[in-house]
Amino acid sequence: MKPFQYLRPKTIAEAISMAADDPEARYIAGGTNLVDLMKRGIASPTKLIDINHLPLKKIEHRYDRLRIGALALNSEVAKHKAVVTRQPLLAQALLAGASGQLRNMATVGGNLLQRTRCSYFYDLALPCNKRKPGSGCGAEGGINRTHAIFFAGNGFGGIEKSSCLAVHPSDMCVALTAVDTVVVVNGPDGERRIQMKDFLRLSTQQPELDTNLGPGELVTAIEVLDNAFAKHSHYLKVRDRASYAFALVSVAVALQMDGGRIWDARLALGGVAHKPWRYWAIDLMLRGKAPSEQLFREVAEHEMESAKALEGNAYKIKLTSNAMVAALKTAAGIS
Ligand code: SF4
Repeated sequence: MKPFQYLRPKTIAEAISMAADDPEARYIAGGTNLVDLMKRGIASPTKLIDINHLPLKKIEHRYDRLRIGALALNSEVAKHKAVVTRQPLLAQALLAGASGQLRNMATVGGNLLQRTRCSYFYDLALPCNKRKPGSGCGAEGGINRTHAIFFAGNGFGGIEKSSCLAVHPSDMCVALTAVDTVVVVNGPDGERRIQMKDFLRLSTQQPELDTNLGPGELVTAIEVLDNAFAKHSHYLKVRDRASYAFALVSVAVALQMDGGRIWDARLALGGVAHKPWRYWAIDLMLRGKAPSEQLFREVAEHEMESAKALEGNAYKIKLTSNAMVAALKTAAGIS
């Protein structure tokens, strides 16, 4: 591990000023991903700016939204009464992620910023455009069983426009993508509010970038807007083993139902793209209709028409379709 400076700012402004003029500086909170990356030589920050003492841990409901500080621990968020009652989809997704020990250490901000678990990214001897832009993609033509089936530009050229085939590892981000969420960041130019759909990036020209954060910007909170999905939401995660494993495929579903019909619908997929994949047409397809397995099968198959399998992950197309149907049925309360 290369030597680095360790800094402990007393205020948010001080933290930002420490990072502002140094592109190799990194903020650290729980460190559950960054420390691994440093030990393996994948990340070599010049400065580690420890933000753990900043006042960013609060979880509260204010006006029309749930505001969660970036330093709130995943385990605390998952059991917080306001989260469980108002945004159970988020609580379910958090509890599906990692292990109890990791959830006690990992923060909401770090969860947003965690990097891919593609094995080529973690092996310095192998090519990886995300780790070393222009070096190639080891997963292309390699072992890509866990990689993406949706890509930037699908329908407009597809896979060849994508320079990274990896998927985003977070469960939390899938739930936040399904519902209306704002990521609040502070930086040298002040506060910025970024819609969750615009916070993480699809892989195109710069696969080394996972987010649209600017230089020196610090995530300070997320805000989940109130909705009417609490009674009919479900997070389904399909993985190789029952716990402490990343999703092969996951589905976050949120429905608003009344009188036996669906009046609003949101759905996002995990484990299938460089960022959580929002299914934008689902509301149009389900609105005003009574839930049924046949209807859900039709909408799942409609979405999967734009999926493209790699050599090793064709199984994900059927798996994703079936997971969507199962999650929709559970959320709608039909068997
Ligand atoms: Fe690197 Fe992405 Fe290719 Fe994996 S899929 S080897 S992270 S470029």
